Amino acid sequence: WKRLSQGLTRTASNLTTGITDLFTKKKLDAATLEDLEDILIRADLGVQTAENISAVVGKGRYEKDIDPEEVRALIAGEIEKTLAPVAVPLVFDSAHKPFVLLMVGVNGSGKTTTIGKVASKLRAEGKKVVLAAADTFRAAAIEQLKVWADRTGAAIVAREQGSDAAGVAFDAYAKAKAEGADVLIVDTAGRLQNRTELMAELEKVVRVLKKQEPAAPHAVVLVLDATVGQNALVQVEAFKRVAGVTGLVMTKLDGTARGGILVAIAAKHGLPVHLVGVGEGIDDLQPFAARDFARAIVG
Ligand code: GDP
Repeated sequence: WKRLSQGLTRTASNLTTGITDLFTKKKLDAATLEDLEDILIRADLGVQTAENISAVVGKGRYEKDIDPEEVRALIAGEIEKTLAPVAVPLVFDSAHKPFVLLMVGVNGSGKTTTIGKVASKLRAEGKKVVLAAADTFRAAAIEQLKVWADRTGAAIVAREQGSDAAGVAFDAYAKAKAEGADVLIVDTAGRLQNRTELMAELEKVVRVLKKQEPAAPHAVVLVLDATVGQNALVQVEAFKRVAGVTGLVMTKLDGTARGGILVAIAAKHGLPVHLVGVGEGIDDLQPFAARDFARAIVG
């Protein structure tokens, strides 16, 4: 919570300053509400959410005094209402052995780090984990995943850079199955610049997994970097189409995050938000809590 609220400080202080300027010693009218919408849109909350909030704030309060504290509480309440339905934990259903988790997202979003953190949590629960280094495009990605495998005591299947991603996924599934692993986590490449290639590669990875287990992947989790703001929305749309995303993780909420975009994504897509990353350390991954997040955004 502390890291989250620190990370969202800038968003919160911009909102607070805007709201304080707007509502101090002033009666509420249509112009104030329009200004409020602008402030909320600048905080990346999205047009729909901004309109909803401004309607809630305006209801029954026209031409009345309203203090900034009350406005902030109303905003936090509305944000929480939007986020609560999407705060859904990532469940590794033990009916699937292995449970196959496909991790997708653009390079640099924190995908490999998140895989390491998830593997660490699963290992702590005594689960047997296999990692598949199917981001074969970058040598560094393969090396980094090996480091996480060492740190967490997960097994890993990796080939040299440039080899076939689907081949790695195939071998990794076979190994996980043969060894009775509980969870297989598949890392993938995230070159959004070349969508056709990315799509073909991801499709092939999914195809070979399905050949071995028709219900796989059991979860497709998109990792989003909280510092990219509006671009996260573009990434959700692209990966939903390409990979059939079933849930989200938002990383880097400890830095100079622009977490408001998560509200816009929740309002528009309703995808489950499973976890949030609040640091580079192995334990810096937390379940997504709607109320904490709403409070951190409003400050
Ligand atoms: P990938 O290219 O998507 O696999 O991204 P990486 O896992 O390599 O992460 C990119 C950078 O972001 C690395 O320097 C990570 O340490 C850092 N990172 C990942 N998650 C977080 C987070 O929650 N908070 C912070 N501050 N940094 C993170």
